This record gives sequence, C-alpha cells and structure tokens, in this order.
Amino acid sequence: MSRSISLELIKNEIRNIPDFPTPGIQFKDITTVLKQADLFSFLVDTLAEIFQDKGITKIACIESRGFILGGALAGKIGAGFVPIRKPGKLPAETLRREYSLEYGTDAIEIHKDAIIPGDVVLLHDDLLATGGTASAAVALLKGLDPSKICLSFLCELDFLEGRKHLQEYEVSSLIHF
Ligand code: AMP
Repeated sequence: MSRSISLELIKNEIRNIPDFPTPGIQFKDITTVLKQADLFSFLVDTLAEIFQDKGITKIACIESRGFILGGALAGKIGAGFVPIRKPGKLPAETLRREYSLEYGTDAIEIHKDAIIPGDVVLLHDDLLATGGTASAAVALLKGLDPSKICLSFLCELDFLEGRKHLQEYEVSSLIHF
C-alpha cells in the first residue's frame, strides 16, 4: 500500500549528523530520503510542478549533491543539465569563482560554453546555508549572460540567512530548518 507523502514527512526523514564534517556543523544528510523511491519521485514531481512553466532552458547544478535532484528535474521538465564543479574537474575552458562555505573555503567552475545568452537558468543545490556557494554560482552564471536566473534548493538553513545574499532573485526552498 502506498503511503501519504508530504514535505513534512521528508523533513523528518532527513538525517542530522552532528559535528560533520567539522565540530559545530549539523549536517543534513539527504541520502536517507533519496534512497526511498517514493520520496525521491515525490521531490522530483514537486520541483517539476514549481518550475515546469517558467521557461527554464538550463538547470545549473552544484557538485555533487545538487546533481541528483537537479539532473532528475532537468530530464522531467525538458531542460539541459549544466554541472558546476570543484576546480580541475571540468575538462574544457572554464570560468572560476572563489567562495566561503559554512565550513571552510573553496572554488567552483563552469564551462564557458555551458550557458548561452538568452538561456533561462535555474540554479539548483541540495542546501542553502550561508549563501556563499550559491552567490559564487550566480556570479559565474551572470558572467555567461543568461536572460534570467532563479534558484532552487531542497533545504534551507533559515537561521544562517543565506537568502539575504540572493535578494535580487526568486529563491525557492522546499524544506526549512
Ligand atoms: P553555503 O555556501 O554556506 O550556503 O553552503 C552550501 C553548500 O554547502 C551546499 O552545497 C551544501 O551541500 C553544503 N552544506 C553547507 N552546510 C551544510 C549542512 N549543514 N548540511 C549539509 N550540507 C551543507
């Protein structure tokens, strides 16, 4: 028998790992949700309902957890998939941006030909924390001249106010902590 699925149920299924990968971080482990077929397809369907009529041509997804739902969503709504990756992973010419994370600093890259002028781009990642990663990704995307950028996250850590750095954009998060 199929169960009744809600975002509240999915929120409760996300596993909290204290002090991972560094002390003080409450890591939101979504693998506990992704491994459940009905929850995975509920999330893809929910995201598709939100984004299918927005004229999105590309979904740019942040390595690596952003690839999972972002890739499935791209297939579902008929958009192209664009990876945003850690330095040195993309083989062709890239743009690069440094950023700060809730834990540490890093950089991300995108292929220079991944987006063309006029693309309507949805940026997707699993989680919005301080907003450093998403801001860096938006800066990369802007450098490629899309006609519009909007943002999608599975989870948002509201208390870190990452959204404040993204005020010019539509930001959608399905689950709030
Ligand atoms: P931030 O740049 O601070 O918004 O961090 C967002 C990125 O770091 C996303 O790619 C997340 O996957 C990851 N991240 C940051 N904090 C957490 C957390 N508490 N649990 C899971 N992932 C996190």
